[in-house]
Amino acid sequence: MSNNLLKTGLFGLTGLALSACTQALAQRATPAPNAVPIVAQQAGPAAASLRDHAQETDIALLHKLVTETSADRIEADIRKLVSFGTRHTLSETESDTRGIGAARRWIHTEFERISAECGGCLEVIYVSDTISGETRIPDPVEVVSVVAIQRGTLDPNRMIVMSGDIDSRVTDPLDGTSDSPGANDNASGMAGAIEAARVLSKYKFPGTIVYMGLSGEEQGLFGGQIVAKHAIEEGWNIKGVINNDMIGNISGINGITNNTTARVFSEGTRDVETPEEARARRFTGGEVDSPSRNLARYIDRMADRYIPNLDVMMVYRLDRFGRGGHHRPFNAVGIPGVRIMETNEHYDRQHQDLRTEDGRVYGDTIDGVDFDYAAKLTALNIVSMAGIALAPPIPADVTIEGAVQPSTTLKWSRPTGTKAENLAGYRVHWRLTTDAQWSHSKFVGNVSEYTLENIVIDNYFFGVSSVAKDGAESPVVFPGAAGSYGGYETSQE
Ligand SMILES: [Zn+2]
Repeated sequence: MSNNLLKTGLFGLTGLALSACTQALAQRATPAPNAVPIVAQQAGPAAASLRDHAQETDIALLHKLVTETSADRIEADIRKLVSFGTRHTLSETESDTRGIGAARRWIHTEFERISAECGGCLEVIYVSDTISGETRIPDPVEVVSVVAIQRGTLDPNRMIVMSGDIDSRVTDPLDGTSDSPGANDNASGMAGAIEAARVLSKYKFPGTIVYMGLSGEEQGLFGGQIVAKHAIEEGWNIKGVINNDMIGNISGINGITNNTTARVFSEGTRDVETPEEARARRFTGGEVDSPSRNLARYIDRMADRYIPNLDVMMVYRLDRFGRGGHHRPFNAVGIPGVRIMETNEHYDRQHQDLRTEDGRVYGDTIDGVDFDYAAKLTALNIVSMAGIALAPPIPADVTIEGAVQPSTTLKWSRPTGTKAENLAGYRVHWRLTTDAQWSHSKFVGNVSEYTLENIVIDNYFFGVSSVAKDGAESPVVFPGAAGSYGGYETSQE
């Protein structure tokens, strides 16, 4: 790095240890005092066991949750959602048997039923607003989402969210009357969120878990926008939205049938990154380490550890090429979020009028849904949310320093009060810059900074996670604004 670059590039950056930089410049001509062969040094921490701290309690629960996820119940819920004929956002709302009004009231009732079985453990609310003057919602329509909140015992405002969509559509996006079963798009994701509530509401977690049925997705992501705005206004500290949109199709239009992979889409740099933050990132990295991306890595790892015969394909883009989903409005207000979905899509089964043309059958009907596969992806949501809700708060205020030094130092702040009750300590992680997944880690105890001796900052990406006394671990946080999940009290910096 040249002096010129330092002057124009690094001074004034937030989240960087400027004093270390300046000091480093002075030392640059001096050989590292304790330099040892890198191979020998790396063998220690690199070989550290994943279990060097963890107790079995949380891990056993996570395995158990997978076995408690039911494909039969998911099938029953998808059938019920399809039975409303259409769930189009512009469809009728008065009938008890047809249209989106009946569908959302049934979802609300179902969450209330689940809540009754756990002594009222869910707060079930409607979150709505009236939309008009939009291409796909020209006249005023109340867009109503259903939100069920399972409060945490130690950190009740820290939330991890699973979302599906209530609404469906056919060929004409303004057609609110034709039959529009939306069995896979997106009764599958909605049924998954309801099943997750059934499974997880039997247990208590330190952090809060939220289940959302969002509406207005096909009309322009309006339900997500409305709920994201509500979340900000209410000060909800949402650490991640795991959006499920089409989790039941296993036979793709490309001729591939596969029930052993799922895709997780995540944004690269944060949508809310400021020009100053972008400038800092240019010199320190973070293009592939947004909190959404590290949430995707967390889900990938949970699949490897807990879901038999399921491998996650992390896709390094916001969503499918040029297409949208309900995690986006949350990203737009700074809340981390990803999209989980099937790997092989079938476009004849998406957004199509029910019809047969030249022997080719179109429409999103229930025969296109594989319930075991939907259950597998639901279980992936369940273990990911449970893992995050069992873990202590995700590390905040993470910084890193070590330029022109032999070693790399990470610092972070620790939570206080009940939030810290289940905290065992922290694990620092690193990986080669070209690696997709965190490959090296070390449990470092209940400290607020740690120096990795003779691990050179230039050659790796670094992060830190929190570890619970019973073994659960948070997602890894990349230092600075680029990787931040927000603070211990709020999702906003
Ligand atoms: Zn759709």
